[in-house]
Amino acid sequence: MRTEHWERAIILLDMDSFFASVEELDNPNVSGGAISVTNGLHGNTIITCSYKARQYGVHTGMPLYKARILCPDLINFPARHKRYSLLSNKIMQYIRENVSPDIEEFSIDEAFIDVTKCQAHIGSIKQIANKLQRKIYEKFGLKASLGISGDKTTAKHAVKLAKPFGIKIVRPADSGQFLANVPVVDICGISIKISDFLAKHNVYKCSDMSKIQQEVVTQKYGVTGARIWLMCQGLDPSNVKHNYRNAKTMGHGKILPPNIKDKNIILYYFAHMVAKLMRRMRVNNFYSDYFLIAMRAKNKKWFKDKVKLTISNNSQHGLMNLVKLFIEKNWHSDCITQVQITALRLCSSKQIDILDSNCKVKRLNRVIDAINTKYDNNCITYARIISPIE
Ligand SMILES: [Mg+2]
Repeated sequence: MRTEHWERAIILLDMDSFFASVEELDNPNVSGGAISVTNGLHGNTIITCSYKARQYGVHTGMPLYKARILCPDLINFPARHKRYSLLSNKIMQYIRENVSPDIEEFSIDEAFIDVTKCQAHIGSIKQIANKLQRKIYEKFGLKASLGISGDKTTAKHAVKLAKPFGIKIVRPADSGQFLANVPVVDICGISIKISDFLAKHNVYKCSDMSKIQQEVVTQKYGVTGARIWLMCQGLDPSNVKHNYRNAKTMGHGKILPPNIKDKNIILYYFAHMVAKLMRRMRVNNFYSDYFLIAMRAKNKKWFKDKVKLTISNNSQHGLMNLVKLFIEKNWHSDCITQVQITALRLCSSKQIDILDSNCKVKRLNRVIDAINTKYDNNCITYARIISPIE
């Protein structure tokens, strides 16, 4: 039987109760239990919970003490955002390398994936979805739900009906009908303010949108209005945006603990930000020869310098030398509250580099990145980054 070919196929992948599932994964002794996660060590509001906990009426936003009344066996974990973010990066990277490079990370546990081209080598939309869901479960031990259609808005709404651990496929020709009775305010991207405006024109649910002219919305909201008018009719034209491909700049900053006055500790935080930035650039195949180095003093004054490397690069060494010079020039025993490093001129190709020493550095970075990706973000790093705190 010939399978139907879709002109455009977009998946919204959403991990099921992501933080709670990661805790379950890392603590097999509580597997299958009613699990909740609160924000930080002292947080007392539930930010997510397992489906088992939901059966007792526990939900996101509920105070922990109330949840314990409803579910006395509730097992609570303080959130470990670093761990969730590491796993999220690995999942996104896996999809990018094994399913489709056309991926837009929408949040820590959600991504739009354009799988149009996958039809040629994997098969039908159903086969693609089944394979993706199964692979993620086999590789990471985590469950994902998938909503699939020909546009992002329909896929995003479809995933709500797929949860937990399900797949909801809406053929592009059926997307208008699928959304018809959905209140416009439930559509991702339509705020309460916009829905109030639409209500004045008797648009309450998606099917009402076709009763008004597109100009009504574009006159008020411009290009966004044009998109909203189409979105509600299952015709969302927006493409999956590669989060980094068209980036012009990329940066990392950090607010420091109080009263940092030690030059070495300031340098430590800069080294950490530089390492993070360069690793992200390498992962996304970016180089830059032009950077902003900045730090903020306690009196809120920023010190900033734009610096240029002799050659476009994505290795920390050259830049760290300029950071040291920057600190020497600008720091006068002030307390520093924030540091920032930004690559200002990202490019994806590098000028020819014939220096053998740089080849060694490149190989070293490749090995470090591979080990850090496999085990933990910073399990191997440069001595400068660990020394002041050890
Ligand atoms: Mg989720």
